[in-house]
Amino acid sequence: MSIANKLARKELIAMVPYQSARRLFASSGDMQGKIWLNANEASGPGNYQVNSDSINRYPDFQPENLLKAYSQYCQLPTENILATRGADEGIELIIRTFCQAYQDSVLICPPTYGMYAISAENHGADIIKVPLTKNLTLDLAGLKAQVGQAKVVFLCSPGNPTGNLLSQDEIQAALELFAESAMVVVDEAYIEFSPEQSVASWLKKYPHLVVLRTLSKAFALAGLRCGFTLANTDVIAMLSKVIAPYPVSAPVADIASTALASSGLEQMNIRVQETNELRVQLIHWLAQQEWCSQVFNSDANFVLFRCQNETIKSFIFDGLAKQGILIRDQSKQLNLSDCLRISIGSEDELNLLMKSIKNSFASEKINTNNVITTKA
Ligand SMILES: *Cc1c(COP(=O)(O)O)cnc(C)c1O
Repeated sequence: MSIANKLARKELIAMVPYQSARRLFASSGDMQGKIWLNANEASGPGNYQVNSDSINRYPDFQPENLLKAYSQYCQLPTENILATRGADEGIELIIRTFCQAYQDSVLICPPTYGMYAISAENHGADIIKVPLTKNLTLDLAGLKAQVGQAKVVFLCSPGNPTGNLLSQDEIQAALELFAESAMVVVDEAYIEFSPEQSVASWLKKYPHLVVLRTLSKAFALAGLRCGFTLANTDVIAMLSKVIAPYPVSAPVADIASTALASSGLEQMNIRVQETNELRVQLIHWLAQQEWCSQVFNSDANFVLFRCQNETIKSFIFDGLAKQGILIRDQSKQLNLSDCLRISIGSEDELNLLMKSIKNSFASEKINTNNVITTKA
């Protein structure tokens, strides 16, 4: 037995790390050769300058330029904001702050974002699952039955991988249910695609509300690793005891501040508008395909759809991969059998995707038993 295996916490030995899009397909050296529609990133490069004059110094715990810029953008005072290494770090911090290891639980509503469970497992927190209803709404009766059992409740709106917003009424109902017993985290990683639905302004009313944000999606800065946790000051103070002393590096703060300045916001808004238009087109196209049995509504920069069956799902996924186009298989998620997820890339990328799927069907033939045979 290796020394690592001998000494590690025993639950880590069997644990499978998060199968991120980038772990499943590493980008090393081959970024240009493929079309990446598997991680809900924005398409196209950025253009930023960093200032290294003070790079010999540690950055501020929370760089002022960054907090001011995000404060202006989200319309909350800087005291309500904690900048983190991506929203993922926010998830981890909340669990580490509020869950006693090997004692407390988090509550998730699958199908949902995978990192809630991974971070919980990593910390030794139990996971209570209250699945979304068939219509992808919250199961409020199911949630009510768990009041008192969980310390942290994760809601994702718009949801990943489903794409739909939770209604503000449902979120409010969940907040009321857990008012005395749990932190309610609303993950708004995709809120820029329908900003009027944000619940960040509810912080005054709900002391146990936490909102997660990121620059990875609509701001096209996934490589930067910058996210924000929005919460009341006592919550921020508690999270600040757990977070690393210099969580945001100076170059990250510089680039993020630029992206949040007015011309950066303008570009973001244009990107969101284009993405929303392309998403409508992709949904329309998918709905017309006979191999597609369901297209999910989306308020985000991706579309989830269900294939007629497993064979077709694999056929489409593998056919695209062979042509250098990577999308995400979500079929292992609860109630998402035969489902695939496509991130909204550029118009060219989506055109190529549609063409490639057509190519797959043109060069192979699926007979009625769904046995795929290569056309002669
Ligand atoms: C992408 C994503 C995150 C993580 O964002 P980072 O800031 O890149 O860590 C969090 N939540 C959801 C729902 C996401 O899709």
